[in-house]
Amino acid sequence: MSSFEELLKNGKKILEGSGITEAGLDAWLLLEYVTGKNRAWYFAHSDEMADSKEAIRYQELIRKRSSHIPLQHLTHQAFFMGYEFYVDQHVLVPRQDTEVLVETALEAMQGRKDLQILDMCTGSGCILFSLLLEKPDSTGTGVDLSLEALEVARRNRRQLELDGRAELLQSDLFSAKELKDGRQYDILISNPPYIPTKEIDTLMEEVKSHDPRLALDGHEDGLYFYRKICTEGRIYLKKGGWLLFEIGCDQGKDVAELMEAAGFSEVQRKKDLSGLDRVVFG
Ligand code: GLN
Repeated sequence: MSSFEELLKNGKKILEGSGITEAGLDAWLLLEYVTGKNRAWYFAHSDEMADSKEAIRYQELIRKRSSHIPLQHLTHQAFFMGYEFYVDQHVLVPRQDTEVLVETALEAMQGRKDLQILDMCTGSGCILFSLLLEKPDSTGTGVDLSLEALEVARRNRRQLELDGRAELLQSDLFSAKELKDGRQYDILISNPPYIPTKEIDTLMEEVKSHDPRLALDGHEDGLYFYRKICTEGRIYLKKGGWLLFEIGCDQGKDVAELMEAAGFSEVQRKKDLSGLDRVVFG
């Protein structure tokens, strides 16, 4: 039998030993996940004995986290724009950096009503759904090639009560027949896969071994999806509509040039909280 305090201490030690950067925090979050009790409760009860089934489950999760499985894949929970999303190994875990993209879109949408949004490579749906929640009169379509990712997006759509406002389509970019009916959107937004294939193996273990490759791989130079979306996406935008991309920090110039070459005007870049180029839009 172990007390909560012992479980936590051991959990943290194991994670530290495996080079997990936020070992203490992750040990806490997993304990909260397993027991359903919050931190305030532990401060009052830390010397109590843990239920043995919960202790075993906790140790199992610590073992998994120590093999660098992302925390969110274990708790199936990720927070983005203040909303909770279900995630698993089939989708990219929503990143805080991507909130800059959503905020930029919200600025572009300001003062306008009944907007239609197309989110290309939607994954968990985090971008589309948080926009729809922030702008209650908007509707949208989320597109992904991966059926497993769409299953996750469907689950989030239900959980966030957006069934009536969001359509989800399986499509290799714009190839789906549903998109060929002449429809146009006010906002085309995408955080596409953008890592050059050769560089994927240099990423941290959590990303390179556990995020889906399909969500990372931007082909040879990382720009494949930007090229396709810039050239093929234009006809899906209404006049005066906006195209917004998340980019890798060294892709700002290239993607801005691609957009300008495809006829977009007012092309601008925006930085993330670390001061790196993160968004290009026009
Ligand atoms: N749009 C999703 C996100 O931003 C998925 C992106 C991707 O798979 N490249 O999290």
